Amino acid sequence: MPGSPAPPRNGGPPPPAADGAGPARSPRGTAAAPVGRILVVEDDAPLCRVLTSALERAGHVVDTAGDGLEGASKLGSGSCEVVLLDIGLPFVDGWKLLQSLDGRRQPSVIVISARGDERDKVRALDLGADDYLTKPFGADEMLARVRAVLRRVRGTAEAARVVRCGEVVVDLGARLVRRGGEEIRLSPTEYVLLTELARHAGTVMDHRTLLSRVWGPMYAGDRNYLRTFIQRLRRKLEDDPAEPTVIVTAGRRGYRFGPAADPGPSPAP
Ligand code: CA
Repeated sequence: MPGSPAPPRNGGPPPPAADGAGPARSPRGTAAAPVGRILVVEDDAPLCRVLTSALERAGHVVDTAGDGLEGASKLGSGSCEVVLLDIGLPFVDGWKLLQSLDGRRQPSVIVISARGDERDKVRALDLGADDYLTKPFGADEMLARVRAVLRRVRGTAEAARVVRCGEVVVDLGARLVRRGGEEIRLSPTEYVLLTELARHAGTVMDHRTLLSRVWGPMYAGDRNYLRTFIQRLRRKLEDDPAEPTVIVTAGRRGYRFGPAADPGPSPAP
């Protein structure tokens, strides 16, 4: 029906503020709080709803999983930046999920558990969790922890990070790309795609992960997007786009920035 408001979309970008409502105001006039893609893995359905609505009100894009199997599958899609992870879950518990992430930089994990035991906290942090919230906790505290994690992953980690491949330099802190000392102009989407690859230089990023992170989870199957933008980047960055060395095709799996990182054993003396 014309004129009726569009239904809220699940998993899409945060909707613009309604006419006249304006963006949520910060009482202290602080800089814009970071918003991110958050996965809530929690089998307690009422709690999951409370967390989801608090996160969505703060502008985050939220996905949920009600048990460990669903959680593992959504974690595998690689589309979230922060996971709120319950420990006591049906089928696969939170410890196993945490172990499966195996120290990967993304997503950041905030464990939410009814177990306030100090040993559990230490174990979670040792397994790579970024933070630990003991139930019950308030929505404001949860939101503050999520903001802190997002600031950490986006800010400090990138501030000094410069990734190179041959003549191409990607300065993640300054948000600049140079080739042979000359600045290369990229569209916002080209830039986001390049930085996703550069952040994981030397390792293969699969098609679905790249599509989810750059365009959003609903685009995970649209390889044409990816192919088109990879070609555009290669025309700007490669000496010979037909024989790429900066953005390398890794068989049918995905793409890699630069030569493969070799984690093999160090050579014998
Ligand atoms: Ca639980």
